Amino acid sequence: MQFLFNLRSQGMTDTRVLNAMEKVDRGQYIRGTFSDRAYEDTPLPIACGQTISQPSIVALMTAALDVQPRDKVLEIGTGSGYQAAILSHLARRVYTVDRHRKLVRAARAIFEAENIANITAFTADGSWGLEQLAPFDRIILTAASEDPPGPLLAQLRIGGIMVLPVGQSDTVQTLVKVLKTESGFDYNELRPVRFVPLLEGLGK
Ligand code: SAH
Repeated sequence: MQFLFNLRSQGMTDTRVLNAMEKVDRGQYIRGTFSDRAYEDTPLPIACGQTISQPSIVALMTAALDVQPRDKVLEIGTGSGYQAAILSHLARRVYTVDRHRKLVRAARAIFEAENIANITAFTADGSWGLEQLAPFDRIILTAASEDPPGPLLAQLRIGGIMVLPVGQSDTVQTLVKVLKTESGFDYNELRPVRFVPLLEGLGK
């Protein structure tokens, strides 16, 4: 895939992340008008007015998450399912949540067709996390909030990592890496990004 070649030449050296991305065909996650652009390093529109993230940002976020093979990962913002599919090749178990039922159904169908068996997708407001399945080793948000949601910070295990875009929806946001320690949280700002907003409640 063209963008994998570009990622390497741009200095992405995390071979585990590159290998996981190699296993996932982005073309399977984009239907309709934009499918012929699936292999470009660009965000693209998907159903429900949402977007599939730019592959180089997916690579950066996945590398920052530093997923270990035994990890239980929570993703908020299933969207097309592309990011979850990449995580599924790095983690033991992936739980992914989206507020749009239609997106969750479509993503489940692709996971099944691609024989990915370690992802469970839920329709819910992900700001509340998945209390019954907590704690999580890693949490990733692919929609921006003004602050890291409290329930998600609570559902991260000590030593766990959360990666998320933080900021107002209509401005440039900052990609933040949060490490939960015995005594609190360490915050690390990675770079400016632009994501769709984390919204309350379920989508129509
Ligand atoms: N990770 C996706 C990109 C997602 S775009 C991919 O790989 O394609 C962001 C997604 O976050 C959208 O699908 C949107 O519906 C979802 N979202 C926004 N607010 C949410 C919330 N409170 N709970 C769950 N999902 C939410």
